[in-house]
Amino acid sequence: MAASAYRSAHQDLVEEVTSDTDSWIPVQPHKTERPKRMKPELMYQDDATFESEPLVDTTAALTLRSKKIARLQKKSQKKEAKRVHSDIKSFLDLPHELLQEVFSFLQPSDVFNLMRVSQATNQVISENEASIAQSIISRRYWILSRCFRRPFDLADVAKDALPALLSRQWQDRLRIHKNPYQHIKPIDPTMVCTCMSCVLAWNNLNIILDLGHWQGNLERREPLPIVPRGKRPEWNEDLLRKHAEIVSKAMRSPLTYARILQIHLQTTSQTILRSSRWRKKGEKVNPSRPRLYHMTDAELASGTDEYLGRSGPPSYQPLFMRDNYYSVEAFVPNRKWDKEQQRWMYYSNWPLPHEQDLAWVMQRFTPQAAA
Ligand SMILES: [Zn+2]
Repeated sequence: MAASAYRSAHQDLVEEVTSDTDSWIPVQPHKTERPKRMKPELMYQDDATFESEPLVDTTAALTLRSKKIARLQKKSQKKEAKRVHSDIKSFLDLPHELLQEVFSFLQPSDVFNLMRVSQATNQVISENEASIAQSIISRRYWILSRCFRRPFDLADVAKDALPALLSRQWQDRLRIHKNPYQHIKPIDPTMVCTCMSCVLAWNNLNIILDLGHWQGNLERREPLPIVPRGKRPEWNEDLLRKHAEIVSKAMRSPLTYARILQIHLQTTSQTILRSSRWRKKGEKVNPSRPRLYHMTDAELASGTDEYLGRSGPPSYQPLFMRDNYYSVEAFVPNRKWDKEQQRWMYYSNWPLPHEQDLAWVMQRFTPQAAA
């Protein structure tokens, strides 16, 4: 019995050992007495006699002893001892800090995909969205997050600033930053703060999405469709509405904001790569000319914006229209290169520009009756 239990528990080991004849104890086959030569009819009778008698197994239980079995047993015990025993059934059971560390290495698009995996994953990510997004942004988009800020939701703006922001005088003055664009849905002053800094922040995030949308055309060197002046084709309205919805969502969702920055890093890296391959018509690629920001293949693959910290051209020129997309290599606004310190200087820390602009608008545009 003991031997049979042993066999079932270590069947694999034993089967392996059976081929090892040197260390194996030979098993004597059970001998049945049978004449060396027997006539066929007698053989039949003899077998019938066997069937009528109860069969008694007289085989003695085998004790398996071999150096190889002992060795394998020991190995198996060691393996079992090494195995870590834990109550953690799913990665969601990991401590909060560890989970956060794991998420910080993901791309924002990966996190969105994870949210679709299960309700439980979705819940954990949603509950910790701000800290997950912040750790991803610090790791991957530190520079871009300083160049592209999120406009403020009007609901988060102090109530006493609203009369000035929503005044006809201020909105008329803003018209130049809203109406003529074919690549940006005009900011809605009833939903978003329209201080100057927030308007520019709104425009830039929408431009990121529009520029990203046309990368396929630029990659294939296909001209972008022209929208005649004053016309508003439905496909363009739909596209702008879609982008505006994403930017509106990003005002509330830091992960959506991180996703927009991911898109822009991808656009920038791909454009730098494309520019290093393609030159003006007829011009051959000059291998000695380095890529913009000296971007390396490893940096391209890493998905972080670290290379944008090296010296390169400033982006003082806003992208007023889609025609600008053909020539822009890296759109990284709101910073200037300090030659003495050999580093980029970023404009005031957000939300200071928003606060200062808001105070400026309130001072000049608050209707007298409300003041
Ligand atoms: Zn603002």
